[in-house]
Order: sequence, then C-alpha cells, then structure tokens
Amino acid sequence: MKYAQHISELVGDTPLVRLNTVTAGLSATILAKVEYVNPGGSAKDRIALRMIEAAEESGELRPGGTIVEPTSGNTGVGLALVAQRKGYRCVFVCPDKVSEDKRDVLRAYGAEVVVTPTAVPPDHPDSYYSVSDRLVTEIEGAWKPNQYANVNGPASHYASTGPEIWADTDGRVTHFVAGVGTGGTITGTGRYLHDASVDRGAAEGGRVQVVGIDPLGSVYSGGDGRPYLVEGVGEDFWPAAYDPAVPDEIIAVSDADSFAMTRRLAREEALLVGGSCGMAVEGALRLARRLQDEDPEAAARAVIVVLLPDSGRGYLSKIFNDRWMRSYGFLDADAGATVADVLR
Ligand code: PMP
Repeated sequence: MKYAQHISELVGDTPLVRLNTVTAGLSATILAKVEYVNPGGSAKDRIALRMIEAAEESGELRPGGTIVEPTSGNTGVGLALVAQRKGYRCVFVCPDKVSEDKRDVLRAYGAEVVVTPTAVPPDHPDSYYSVSDRLVTEIEGAWKPNQYANVNGPASHYASTGPEIWADTDGRVTHFVAGVGTGGTITGTGRYLHDASVDRGAAEGGRVQVVGIDPLGSVYSGGDGRPYLVEGVGEDFWPAAYDPAVPDEIIAVSDADSFAMTRRLAREEALLVGGSCGMAVEGALRLARRLQDEDPEAAARAVIVVLLPDSGRGYLSKIFNDRWMRSYGFLDADAGATVADVLR
C-alpha cells in the first residue's frame, strides 16, 4: 500500500509542466513549476514546515505553543496545516481589507483569526503591527515565525525547490524565474541553482541565470512602493529574507500585463493560477524573447524554469471576474453578447 502518514508529508516534489501556447514563436523550452499541488495550495507550505521544525529544534516553539503571524493568505494555510498535526495553536492577524473568504480558509483549518482595522497608522494600538506584537508578548508560549526575516524561508527553498528543479531538468536548467515577495523563493532557489551550476561549462549553459520578477512600482525594481494590485509580490521595504546579491536581473511587470497573462494561463494552458504566476510567466516570456533576439542559438538551447506559487481559486472574484477587471480598466468596457443573449 502506498500512502502518506499525514498530508503535511506531501509538501514539495512539485511537477514541472511545459508551457505550449503562450510561448508561441519562442524557441526556448519554458517549464512551469506548479506549486499549487502542495497540500496547502502554495509554495508557502515549504517555508511553513521548515520554519516550524527549526523553531522546535531551537526551543523557540515548545509543545502546546502558539504560532502568531500577521498573514492573510498562503503562509497562514501552510503554518495551520503543519501546526494542526503537531498540536500547536495558530493565531493569525489580518487587516480588515482581507476578504472574508481568505479569513474563512484559515478558520477552516482551525486557526483563530484576529481582524484589525486597515485605516489606522502603524503605531496605533489597534494596527496590524501593534496587535500582533501584543499577542506575541502576552500569549504564554507564543512564537512568531516572521517570514520576512526568517532565514528558514530561503533555507527551505535551498533544500527543496532548488534540488527538485536541478534533478527534474537533469541539470540542464539555464534560467530560473520567480516573483519576489519576501524574497525567500528567489534567494533560496536561486542560490542553490547558482551553486549547482557554478562549474558548468559554457556549452552546457554556464551558471544558471536567476531572474526576479517584480510588480511595477515595488522596491526590488527601483520603485518607491507605489500601489499595485498583484498580490503576494513586491514590497515597500527590503525584507531580510531577500538577498539582493542572488538575482542576476530583475524585470518589472505591470498589473495589466500580469492579469492578462494569468487569464491566458487558465484559458490556454489549463493552469488556473494566481496573479503573481501570470506576472512571473510574463517576465519569463520577455526574457525568452530577448534571448532569442540577442543569440538565437543559445535561446534554442535555453531551459527556463518559472515558478508558479499558488492557485487561481483564491482570485475568482478579482482577476477572473470581468466586472472587477473592467473596474480597473484591465478589460475592454464590454466583452459583447453572451451565448445566452444570442439564443434568447
Ligand atoms: N506569490 C504569492 C501569491 C505569494 O503569496 C508569495 C509570497 N509572499 C510570492 C509570490 C513570493 O514569494 P516569496 O515571498 O518567497 O518571495
């Protein structure tokens, strides 16, 4: 019989899938690493597992302890599913702008969710930051993973995501592309792939090029933190989980281009993924186009791996909703008559 002892054992070992349609006209092999097949539905399961196990080893998290983290999404799910198995209580702090659906997902896994008002300054006692700090100090046995500064985030990708990509491509990957949020994915995976390929000869592709993709306006691509709508990526500060020495290049992509590609991935590649995935793929395609213009022979040999962090299920009322898309000008005013209109 083949079975796992617990769902949390199934984190990682995600597949690579070739992109076939959105890559029309490009000679490089472009492979998507599909992270939504992780048990919690995103790449964040990897960091959750590693951060919790490291905290157990260091003694920061003891039996019966409480995990407190300001998170509204994927990291919360990953932490909750690992915590459930190990008997920890989870308390997540979410600003009230986070959708009811997202909070309900966390509660479904048994986590407690504390909702804070968005419209107060950071130093206000009711702010997201103040409330999570107070909970950590006042709850007995509380531990805060702090994914933005926790070295076990990048370490989890160095130990799993990087080796998986290297093994699944038989060491032939030439470029790694990923969106940058906390920076953990690009830092850990990129560092591993650099190390693995450091002695590879030019004929075999040389050292892997690591390319970070950033929403237009975010700090990684030289912006000032100006608002953008794509979720989970971009920052208005420099997190410690990010090592700016790892990416060889950063490409900035607009919300409009990110969302258009997100929709194409669902419609043309049957990959229902989130907005940061569309952003990363758009960046990977721009990279492939440039390689082809610069050096067609090298482009034909290129193996570009692009990481898709999560599923599109969490964005049905936004990116996959025509009304929402139109309200921001991402879709033409009226898509025209529906089948029902025609047959009425
Ligand atoms: N996409 C989504 C949807 C995310 O939640 C995150 C994590 N914030 C990222 C991309 C970026 O990953 P990382 O934090 O490792 O840079």
